[in-house]
Parts: sequence; C-alpha cells; structure tokens
Amino acid sequence: MQKIANYNFSGKRALVRVDFNVPLNEKMEITDDTRIQAAIPTIKKILSEGGSVILMSHLGRPKNGPEEKFSLKHIVKKIEEVLGQTILFSDDCVGDDAYKKSSRLKAGEVLLLENLRFHQEEKKGELNFAKALAEHGDVYVNDAFGTAHRAHASTAIIAQFFPNDKMFGYLIEKEIESVSKVLNNSVHPVTAIVGGAKVSSKIIIIENLLDKVNNLIIGGGMAYTFAKAQGGCVGNSLIENDYLDTAKEILNKAIAKNVKIFIPTDSVVADAFSNDANTQLCPTNNIPEGFMGLDIGEHAIAKNVECILNSKTILWNGPMGVFEMSKFQKGTEMIAKAVAEATQKGAFSLVGGGDSVAAVNKFHLADKVSHVSTGGGAMLEYLEGKELPGIAAILS
Ligand code: AMP
Repeated sequence: MQKIANYNFSGKRALVRVDFNVPLNEKMEITDDTRIQAAIPTIKKILSEGGSVILMSHLGRPKNGPEEKFSLKHIVKKIEEVLGQTILFSDDCVGDDAYKKSSRLKAGEVLLLENLRFHQEEKKGELNFAKALAEHGDVYVNDAFGTAHRAHASTAIIAQFFPNDKMFGYLIEKEIESVSKVLNNSVHPVTAIVGGAKVSSKIIIIENLLDKVNNLIIGGGMAYTFAKAQGGCVGNSLIENDYLDTAKEILNKAIAKNVKIFIPTDSVVADAFSNDANTQLCPTNNIPEGFMGLDIGEHAIAKNVECILNSKTILWNGPMGVFEMSKFQKGTEMIAKAVAEATQKGAFSLVGGGDSVAAVNKFHLADKVSHVSTGGGAMLEYLEGKELPGIAAILS
C-alpha cells in the first residue's frame, strides 16, 4: 500500500477527495473552516513536491442536480485564504471544461471541482461516473474521513482505477491511527466514556468496546435505561423500554469480561426539559415522578473523574447530560476537563462521534485532547467495528 509520506508527487496530478462539507450562513459565508484547515497538510505535501491538486468534495444534500446554495464556488475564497494561494474552479466535476482545466494544471496549482452530488451517480456509487472522475488524476488520495462510511463514487468506487497509486491523506491516516490506538494497540487501563441521548444508537459501539476496555463510563440519557434495568425508579427520565433487556445483558457481559461499568450514582433532575426548570440533585435510582435526569450528579462526576485520571487510553463519545443548557452542562464540562488533564499526564485521548466533539469545542478543550475526530457518522461506524468502504477501497 502506498503511504502519502513516501510518495513522490513530482509532476503528478493528484485527485484528492476532501470533505469540504462546511457550514454556511445565509450570506454563504463559512461559519467553521475546520474541515478546510484539516485538509491543508495533504494539499501542501503534494504542492511542495511539484505536483498539482484537483480537489473534489460534496456540499450539503442537493436533491436533483445543481442548486446554487450548494455550489462549492462559495468556498473558493476561503480555501485561497487558508492555503495562501489562488485556486481554479470548474463549475462541473466532469465534462469538457473540467477536463480542460485539470489537464492543463501546472505544478503547484490547485483546481476545485464543483459539488460531486450535483450528479446523482455520486451517491449511487456508479462505476462509469467514478471512471469519469478518475480521468482527472494520475494518483488518487482519499482524505475525506467524514464520508469514509459511504460507498460513493468518489469515496470508494473510484479507487479501483488507481490500483498502484491510491492512498490515504494525512487526515484519514490520523483518524485510523487514533482508533487503532484506542481499540487495538492500546495502553491499559483503557476507559471508554459513552453518553448521548439513547442506548439504541450506541448499543453496537458498547458491545464492541466490552472486549477492549477496562472501564466503561455511561452517561447522558442512556444512563436511565441502565438504571431502570438495574431496578431503579427513574421518574420521567428518557427511557427506552425496548432496550431494558439489552441493558441487562450488557451489565452481565461486563461482569463476565471484568469490565468495570460506571452508571451515574446521582443525577441533576429537572421538572421540565428546560433551562428554567426547577432542579435538584438526587440518587439516579430514586428519581421522583415528574422529574427527569438531565445531567450526572456530583458523586458521579467525582467517581468518573477519578477513573479518567487513572487511565492511559480514553475514548469519549457522547455528552454526559444536556450540555447545551447551562443548568445541565457541568457533568460534561467536568468530564471534558478530566480527559484534558489525563491527556496532559500522558494518556492518549480520542474524542469522536456524536456531540462530544461539540462539547470539547464548547469548553475550548479541543487542543488539549490527543485527537478530535472530523467524522461523526464515520467515526461511529468505525468504533462499532464496521468496515468503512472508503478505507477498505484503499487497503484492498
Ligand atoms: P448523541 O448524538 O447520541 O451523542 O446525543 C447527544 C444529545 O443527547 C445531546 O443533544 C444531549 O442534549 C442529549 N442528552 C444528553 N443527556 C441527556 C439526558 N439525560 N436526557 C435527554 N437528552 C440527553
């Protein structure tokens, strides 16, 4: 397999799949350029060696063909600003104009192709469309982790047209390496923190993690299904009754596998799902009717923090409570701070999938953890142990 670090791009046209699906406001201004920043190391490596770059991405969810609001022309200026050079743009990702521009690219030049999803063949993963895209480059680099779980034309199908010249970009490489550090080559003790709204959306991850971790900290809305499964009274908390048996099974498996599970012993409970609600602290297994658990309590925070600070490898997926509301943010904030502190003490920490990424950003701790994943859904599936088509296509 080719590695980007060892590949010589001199004189090559590199077709790079990036994830520039950036948020835009109503004035078509980019409100968060993280994804563009994240692709820069790969682009610069190619350019610095005398290669040229053809960038391809999707933006939003266009329905039937081109839609002005999803045009990638809106992000040209930002790419130029971040990259520090002018770039070319083609208003279709295939066709005469696009080929003319890509074939005439000189060393050090960059061309951005229009939104791939203006062609429905992209999402359908059509072979002929992938072949048409492949015409643009001598070498294919996939650096779009956010779409690696999709078998689309530009993310997976295209790779077969570059049997000896396909590779991951630096960003995907880092994502793969981070997951591997957590799940395969981990330094123990390993602690997984899984929160968020529902057990149902995290069940496969939890099952996959039981074979890999020493400690499993459960938080967020899903904690109440576990607490109820243990026989607790959880008032009006979010409960998935269909998952009570599953929760029991997980608790039993954890005992069998010697994994220590932390279900929050206490909770901040509220009489409404609102920042203006009346709140109180109470044991998670004895929440009064009319109240719902919206954050982990002081005792749970202390226990979780102690566990995190004693860990050498940490995975965090999903918030501990409704951290979007100030009254229920403390649990998530304290966990975020503990993960940052453990990292400073030498632990490896990966924050990925779900709203935990938003949480570390909210508490300005993103640069204090080892890796914050750029791929929500892709990271979730990767942690579930699934094979991601975009990754498999490069490895095969
Ligand atoms: P997820 O996308 O599964 O990581 O879920 C994130 C969402 O779960 C966030 O929007 C939180 O507000 C929500 N959440 C966290 N804790 C609770 C809770 N105790 N009850 C209801 N929702 C929660």
